[in-house]
Amino acid sequence: MDKKLAQRALNLRQGGIRAFFDKAKAYSNLINLGIGEPDFDTPRPIIDAATQAMLEGATHYTANAGDLYIRRQVADFLRGYHVEVDPETEIIMTCGGMGALSLFLLCVLEAGDEVLICDPQWLNYRAQVLFAGGTPVPVPVYEADDFVLQNQAIEKALTSRTKVLMINSPNNPTGAVYSEQDLRRIADLAIRHDLLVLSDEVYSEFLYDGMKHVSIASLEGMRERTVVVNSFSKAFAMTGWRLGYAAGPAPIIRRMILLQENLVACAPSPSQAAGAFALEHRSGVEAMHAIYEKRRSLILEGLNSIDGIHCALPRGAFYVFPSIRSFGLPSQDFAEKMLEEVQVAAIPGSAFGAGGEGYLRVSYANSEENLQEALERIRRFAGLLGN
Ligand code: PLP
Repeated sequence: MDKKLAQRALNLRQGGIRAFFDKAKAYSNLINLGIGEPDFDTPRPIIDAATQAMLEGATHYTANAGDLYIRRQVADFLRGYHVEVDPETEIIMTCGGMGALSLFLLCVLEAGDEVLICDPQWLNYRAQVLFAGGTPVPVPVYEADDFVLQNQAIEKALTSRTKVLMINSPNNPTGAVYSEQDLRRIADLAIRHDLLVLSDEVYSEFLYDGMKHVSIASLEGMRERTVVVNSFSKAFAMTGWRLGYAAGPAPIIRRMILLQENLVACAPSPSQAAGAFALEHRSGVEAMHAIYEKRRSLILEGLNSIDGIHCALPRGAFYVFPSIRSFGLPSQDFAEKMLEEVQVAAIPGSAFGAGGEGYLRVSYANSEENLQEALERIRRFAGLLGN
C-alpha cells in the first residue's frame, strides 16, 4: 500500500509528545503533567453564546476569511497590542492556530526555503515546515539567556535561502517571554536581512509578574513583514472548537484565504460565533489567569525544593522547563523512569529538539491537588535516583 502513498505523507512521523502519551496510557494512577492544553472547560457563557447563535442559524459556511463580525473583534483585540490591521483584507479566521500556521507556510515556502526556528521549540513547527517543502533550521536558545533568541545565533544560521523567522512568545515549551528590547533587536535583524516573521502569540494572555505582551508586529517597520498567529484554544480554554487566526499583510492573507477555500472552506461557524463572544467579554480570562499564576508559584517552589532539580522562572504560558541534568540521565530515560516508578508524566525536553536535552516540560494546567501530589511523587523519584 505504501507505493500508493505520496512521499510527503510517508515522511510524516508521530510527534514525541503523542508517542509519550501512548506509553503513559498504560498507568492507571497517572498524573499527567505533559498535556499542553487548559484543564478548564470552556467558560459557560461562551458555550451559551454559541448555542444561541446556532439556534439562530450559525450552522452554515461563512466567508472563507471568516465572518466579518469576528474579524472586526480580532482587529480590536490586536489594536490593544498596538497592531493595526484591516479586518476586511488583513485577517483570516482559521481552524486553530495550527490552521493559520500551515496556511502561512504553504503559501510562502518554495522547496528548500529555510525557516529559522528556536531550539527547543514546539514540535509542530518542524513538521509543518517540512510538509510545506521548506527546511527547518534550528537556532539554539539557552537558559543563560532566558531561552530567548540571540541575534548572534540567528546570524549564524542565516543563508541565502533563509525566508522566515519564527518567533513564539510566550514560548512553548520554555515559558520564555521576549521583552520589547529583545523584539526590537530581532526586528532590526529581520529588516536588515529582509526576512518574513511569523509571530506565534497563542499564549499572549498568559504573562505573569505584571508583564504585558508585546507583539513584534507593533514595532516600526515590522507590520509589513510580520504575520501574527493567535488562537482561542489557550486563552479561552477552547481547544476543541478549533478556532484561530492570522493577521498580516493583505497579499499574504489573500493567498491564505484562497488556499483555505480549497482545503476546508472556513473555520467552523459556531466556533466563530463563540469566539466573537469570548473576545468581546473576555469570558473567564482573568479568573483562569489568577489560578494559573498561583499554580506557577506552587510548581516552581516545589520543583526547586527537590535536590537535583533546578527550575528557572518562566514568565509566560503554562509550562515550566526544569533542568534534570544533575541526574546524568538523558531526558527521555528520566521521563520514562519517572513514569514507571511514580506514575508522573512530563515530556522529555529532547522531544522539542536537541536544545531541550537535559530538561523536562512540565505543564501546570492541572489542579492544585494534582500538582501537589505530583511534586511529592517527583521528590520520591529524585530520592530513588539518589541525587
Ligand atoms: N502554537 C503553539 C506554540 C502551541 O503550543 C499550540 C498548541 O499547543 C499552537 C500554536 C496551536 O494551537 P491551536 O491549533 O489549538 O490553536
